[in-house]
Amino acid sequence: ISFITSMDPELGEAVRKEYDRQCRNIELIASENIVSPTVMAAMGTVLTNKYAEGYPGKRYYGGCECVDIAENLAIERVCKLFGAKYANVQPHSGAQANMAVYQALCQPGDTVLGMSLDNGGHLTHGSPANQSGKLYNMVAYGVDDNGYIDYEDVRQKAIENKPKMIIAGASAYPRAIHFDKFAEIAKEVGAYLFVDMAHIAGLVAAGEHQNPMEYADVVTTTTHKTLRGPRGGCILTNDEALAKKLNSAIFPGTQGGPLMHIIAAKAVCFGEALKPEFKEYQAQIRKNAQALAEGLTKRGVKLVSGGTDNHLMLVDLRGTEITGKELQNRLDAVYITANKNTVPNEPLSPFVTSGVRLGTPAVTTRGFKEPEMDKIAGFIADAIFDFDNKADAIRAGVEEICKQFPLY
Ligand code: PLP
Repeated sequence: ISFITSMDPELGEAVRKEYDRQCRNIELIASENIVSPTVMAAMGTVLTNKYAEGYPGKRYYGGCECVDIAENLAIERVCKLFGAKYANVQPHSGAQANMAVYQALCQPGDTVLGMSLDNGGHLTHGSPANQSGKLYNMVAYGVDDNGYIDYEDVRQKAIENKPKMIIAGASAYPRAIHFDKFAEIAKEVGAYLFVDMAHIAGLVAAGEHQNPMEYADVVTTTTHKTLRGPRGGCILTNDEALAKKLNSAIFPGTQGGPLMHIIAAKAVCFGEALKPEFKEYQAQIRKNAQALAEGLTKRGVKLVSGGTDNHLMLVDLRGTEITGKELQNRLDAVYITANKNTVPNEPLSPFVTSGVRLGTPAVTTRGFKEPEMDKIAGFIADAIFDFDNKADAIRAGVEEICKQFPLY
C-alpha cells in the first residue's frame, strides 16, 4: 500500500482506508473471504500485461507460452480438486460463467427452472432484472414452510413445464442441497442439470458437502467465496462435447481476452485448496456457523429453517421491531459487516427486507473459533433487542476480538 501511496496518494488513501476497515470490522458477509498473500501477489504480476485470446496451445496471439503454463496449472488443479474432466478457468465472474452455460445449453426462449431470488437463488438464476430472466422463460421453485428446498415442488414444476435446464444452487440457502435428488428429477424430464455451487465450493472441495460433479451436466463456481481465491468464475464438466460448447460460449461467445493474472491467482487458490489444511479450514467454517447459529438461537433470535448445514444462516427478523436494513445499519455502526437479505415469503421490498444473511468463511480465515462466534452471537442479539444501551459495549467487544486476530 505504501508503494501505491507514494505513486498515487489519492488512490493509496482509498486502499489504506479499506485495509483499515477490514482490520477493524468483523466480516460476516457470507460471500466474502480473505485471500492468502500468495493469491494476492499473483494478481499483481506481469501476467496482467498479456493478451491471450483462445485456450492453451490454441491462442490468437503470439508469446503465450508462459501464460499457457499458468492456465494449464489452474485447469489441472481444479479438475483434481472436484473430480472433473474438463474445466474453463477464464470466466471473469460467477455471472459470466453462468451466462456462458445458458448460451451453451439453451436457446433464447427455452424454459429454465431455477430457485427464486427471494427464496435464496441468485440473480442469474432467472431474475427478471437479469439477462437470464429476460432471454429465457424462467420458472421458479422455492422452499417449503420450514425453509428447506421443496423437492416435490421442483419435480411437479419440472413435469408441468418440461424445462431444457434445471438450476440447483443458491446464494442464501442455509441447508445442504441434495444434488442427487435434482439429478433424478432432471433425468425424469430430460433436462440438463446445471449446478451453481458458488457459495459452497470450498465445502465441496473439502468433502463437507455433497459433490455435484457426480450428478450435474455442468457445474459453475465463483473462486472468491468459500474457495478463498481471486474474484472470478470457473466452469466444470465431465462431458467432452459440452466442454467444447462451454469453451466457445466463454470465448468468443461472451468474453474477449482472459485475465491471465487472475487465472494465475486461481491456480494458486486451487493449489491451496488441495492441501490438507484446507479441509480443516472448511470443517471449521461449518463448526463456526453452527456455533453462531446456536448462540443466536439461545438468545431468542429466529433463523430461517432453524439453523444451518453450511457456512451461512439467515436471521429472520419478522416478529421483532426492526427490518433487515435497520439491523445492517446497526451492525455497521458497531463494526460488524453483514447484508440485509430477503427471507422466504418476504413481506418487504428487497431494499428493506426482513432478514440479514450471516456467513463464517472470512472470520474463520481470520482464526476465529467457537468462543468468538458465541461472543458475536451476543453482539448481534444485543444489536437486535437492546441497541441503544449496548452499542458502545458491542463496539468495544468487536475491537478486542479484532485486535486478537490480525487480518494478515
Ligand atoms: N452464483 C451464486 C450462487 C452467487 O451467490 C453469486 C454471487 O454472489 C454468483 C453466482 C455471481 O458471482 P459474481 O458476483 O462473481 O458474478
